[in-house]
Amino acid sequence: MKLLKDFSKTLSSPVFKVLQEVIANSDAKGFVIGGFVRDHLLNRSQKKDIDIVALGSGIDLALAVQKKLPGAKGVQIFKTYGTAMVQWEDIDLEFVGARKESYSKESRNPEVKPGTLEDDQNRRDFTINALAISLNPEDYGTLIDPFNGLKDLEQGILRTPLDPDITYSDDPLRMMRAIRFATQLDFTIDSASFDAISRNAHRIDIITKERIVEELNKILMTPKPSKGFILMEKTGLLKRILPELIDLKGVEEIEGQKHKDNFYHTLEVVDNLCKNSNDLWLRWAALLHDIGKAPTKKFKPPVGWTFHNHEFVGAKMTYRLFKRLKMPLNEKMKFVQKMVFMSSRPIIIAEEQVTDSAIRRLVFDAGPFIDDLITLCEADITTKNPERFKRYHNNFKIVREKIIGVEEKDHLRNFQPPISGEVIMKCFNLKPSREIGLIKEAIKEAILEGEIPNEQKAAFEKMKTEGKKLGLIFHEKTI
Ligand code: ATP
Ligand code: MG
Repeated sequence: MKLLKDFSKTLSSPVFKVLQEVIANSDAKGFVIGGFVRDHLLNRSQKKDIDIVALGSGIDLALAVQKKLPGAKGVQIFKTYGTAMVQWEDIDLEFVGARKESYSKESRNPEVKPGTLEDDQNRRDFTINALAISLNPEDYGTLIDPFNGLKDLEQGILRTPLDPDITYSDDPLRMMRAIRFATQLDFTIDSASFDAISRNAHRIDIITKERIVEELNKILMTPKPSKGFILMEKTGLLKRILPELIDLKGVEEIEGQKHKDNFYHTLEVVDNLCKNSNDLWLRWAALLHDIGKAPTKKFKPPVGWTFHNHEFVGAKMTYRLFKRLKMPLNEKMKFVQKMVFMSSRPIIIAEEQVTDSAIRRLVFDAGPFIDDLITLCEADITTKNPERFKRYHNNFKIVREKIIGVEEKDHLRNFQPPISGEVIMKCFNLKPSREIGLIKEAIKEAILEGEIPNEQKAAFEKMKTEGKKLGLIFHEKTI
C-alpha cells in the first residue's frame, strides 16, 4: 500500500497552526496520535477526530487552544480521565495526558499513572495506532514510530506493540478492535496476534455488551463484513457473542441429501446486501434472517431437509438476541424481526405465477418496509448456477414492477381502513361488538383480493352488503 507520508498540508491547516502556537508557548509538549495519523497515511477520507497526547497538562492545552479558535465550544473536561475535548467547526480535538497503565485481571479499566510518550505508545492497541507526530517547536511534523507501524501500514498488518497475549488479556475489547480494523482496512492480523486472540477469546466475557455491539456494528458497516465474521468464527469469539450463527455452520447429509451451510450462506447474503444498502438494521436483518434454521432443521423423507416455520422462530430469537446483547428493543428491533419473519415471503411469490392479490398482501404486511424486504430477498440469491441466478433476479424485477403497479392503484403501503369502526357502529346502530371487527375484516379482505378498490365509496357499499349478511339494519339517516 502506498502511504501518504506528506503531512505538510495538514500541518499548516488552521487547527494545527493554533496547536503549534499554543504548544510553543507552553511548558507542555503535544503529539497527534492514533487514528488521525493512521488514516492520513492511508489517505482514507480525512477524519475529523484528532487525538492529542500531552506531556504536561492536556487540560491546560485544551483551554488555551479553545481561546484561540474562534467560535470553538467551551472545553469539556473529564477530570477522572485527565482528558479534555474542544469542538471547533466539524473537528473534535481530544487532549489526553500521556499515561502508563497497569491492569488487573477482572476488569478492562486499568490503573492509570502519568507517563512518557513512549509509555503512552506502549499502551496503544496496534502498531499502526501508535504512530505519533510531534507538534513541538524542536521537531514539528516529525513522525515518531517506535514499533515500525509505518511498515505494518504499508504491508497491511495488525500487530500489537507489546506481547499480544498480555495486550489482549489486559483489554479484551482489543480482540474485537483487531478484527474490526482488519475488516475495515482489509488488513491481515499478524499470526502471533491471531493465535493470542484465539487463546484469549474467553476473556471477551468481561467486556460490556454495548462495547461489543459497537464493534459488531462497525464491522457490519464495512463493504464486506464476512471477513470480520469469519475471523470471529476462527478465533472462537463468535461462539461467545453470537452462538446462533455458529449453530448454522456445517452441512449434514442423510440418504444422499445435503442442505447448504447456512453460516457461509448467511455471510454471502450480508456481503450481497452491503452492495445495495447502507442501512445498519437491514444489514442486521441479513445477518439474522436464517437463525431460525438451526432449531427447526429436520430431515423428512421424501421431502428432504426442512426448516419449517424457521422465519417465525427466527423472529423470536431476534428479540432474545437483541435483549442479550443490550441492543435497543425499540422499532429498530421490530424492523429486524419483521424482516426475518417475512424473509421468505417474496421468494415464494417470485417462484410462482405472481397474482395481484399475493402482491397486495405482501405490500399490506410489509408496509413501509416493502422495498427493504425485496432488497433483502435479492441479496438472498446465492445460487452458483448462472441460469438460475438470472431467473431469480428477473423474477424479483417483475415483483418490484407489480408492487409499483399495485401501489399506484391501491396505496396499501400505509394502509388505513377506509371505513372506521365508529362509522360502522353509527350506520348499524351498534355498540362495540364482534360484528364491527367482522365487517372491517371483510372490507380489508375485499381490497386485498382486488374485489373492490381501496376507496371509501366502494368500501361503504361493501360495508352495507356485509351488514346485511349479518342481519343488521342499515340506518340511512345516520350518514
Ligand atoms: P476509529 O475512530 O476509526 O474507531 P481510532 O483508531 O481513532 O479508530 P479510537 O477508538 O478513536 O480509534 O481510539 C483512538 C486511539 O486510541 C487509537 O488509535 C488507539 O491508539 C487508542 N486506543 C483506543 N482504544 C484502545 C484500546 N482498547 N486499547 C489500546 N489503545 C486504544
Ligand atoms: Mg477515533
